[in-house]
Amino acid sequence: MAAVPKTCVYCGSVADLTRDHIPPKSLFNKPRPANLITVWACGSCNKTFKNDDDYFWLTLASRAEAARNSEAGGAALRAIKHLARPQAAGFPSAFLATVQPVEVKTASGLYIGNRLAYDVSFARLNRVAARITRGLFCYVHRALLAPGYVATARALEGFTPEADTDLQQLLAFVGAEHPHSVGSVFSYRFKPIPDNPESALVLFEVYQTTAFLGLTIKGADNVWTEWI
Ligand SMILES: [Zn+2]
Repeated sequence: MAAVPKTCVYCGSVADLTRDHIPPKSLFNKPRPANLITVWACGSCNKTFKNDDDYFWLTLASRAEAARNSEAGGAALRAIKHLARPQAAGFPSAFLATVQPVEVKTASGLYIGNRLAYDVSFARLNRVAARITRGLFCYVHRALLAPGYVATARALEGFTPEADTDLQQLLAFVGAEHPHSVGSVFSYRFKPIPDNPESALVLFEVYQTTAFLGLTIKGADNVWTEWI
């Protein structure tokens, strides 16, 4: 199999390259699976991803822990320890500022107590998901996304019934592809769009809990602008 191009997949630089993990390596507990996916990124792009990656890790591990994914408990604990470091000051308080007690009721409306919940910044999760989409495109095609094309993604939650019809079609299209898994942390399906080799749909799931749909598309025809 050809190597991925030795160029930053985000900006095209060929200097100061490091391996960039798709998805971020922090999501995986040790021992990590042998088939981690990597592309190349330059040092300056890499630095800008740090806070979003931490947010993605903590948020998705916490959600998945509640949904009982086998890897998520350890990952959530690592995330909390990581964010408790003095140099991470600011980040936990930004995260915790969104945490608030909510009333928990049974399906029939009976009040059963309070628990802590937090507002998820889907804009932030989707930024990381868009990067994962770009990285997977490069990994699968062994080529950078062509100039003028963008990668976009969004979590598969909170759709209106009208939007759902279009979405169901897209999901059926990409969902028919064979899934590729990296442990129980990450799995993805990749579907090139016929007659348009630079466009592809990616459906991926983190901790078997939170799913995202990604798309690479020509920037000027970005009909899914409302996605971002
Ligand atoms: Zn770069």
